[in-house]
Amino acid sequence: MKKVIRDYGKFLSMTSETFGAATKKHSVKCKRGCHECCANGFFDITLLDALHLRAALKKVPAAVRKRVIAKAEEQLDILEKKKAFSRKNPILKTLKDIDSVSRRSAKMSCPALENGVCLLYHHRAHICRIFGPTVRGPRRAVRLEGCGYFTRDIPESDLPILDNYEAEEKILRAMYTKAGRKRIRDIDTIIPAALTLDMEKWL
Ligand code: SF4
Ligand code: SF4
Repeated sequence: MKKVIRDYGKFLSMTSETFGAATKKHSVKCKRGCHECCANGFFDITLLDALHLRAALKKVPAAVRKRVIAKAEEQLDILEKKKAFSRKNPILKTLKDIDSVSRRSAKMSCPALENGVCLLYHHRAHICRIFGPTVRGPRRAVRLEGCGYFTRDIPESDLPILDNYEAEEKILRAMYTKAGRKRIRDIDTIIPAALTLDMEKWL
């Protein structure tokens, strides 16, 4: 599994490079000082992101790791009390599951966010790297809905999001094969669970 996680790390770095080049070319960037998308509740991430984030925790200073884990545990306690999430079954299988946990965590910020800074920036999830501008394909078809703060859209030719999903799926497939599964399972989780639980057993 270590190789799969390493390959995913390389894929994420390439994604960031492509995103950086596209935003530079179109002169767009995040609203100054904004970290809204990290502070308005949890969104779903793949189990591949979850394994990658958890492995990344070993690479950050112990004090940072301790703070991030403590905040994630505290948030999971609250979500469990609200019956919005369960550590015993930390996977999200449907849009309804995802919607429910996002709504009930709406006032929580990501456990990695501290004073407006992402403590796990170099290890952040796929969506954290591409979210922001709206990406449009041919005939202005929306490929990725943006946050609304970006002044210009980015064409798919500069941020080939569908190719990205395809490449991601290849690594996802390798992860499930390694776990002894015959096919990809369409399941996700949330960042606090990724940082505190061993998600490998849920593959
Ligand atoms: S991992 Fe970082 S970029 Fe992603 S939501 Fe958390 S704080 Fe934001
Ligand atoms: S992507 Fe949008 S919401 Fe998120 S930090 Fe940038 S400007 Fe703010």
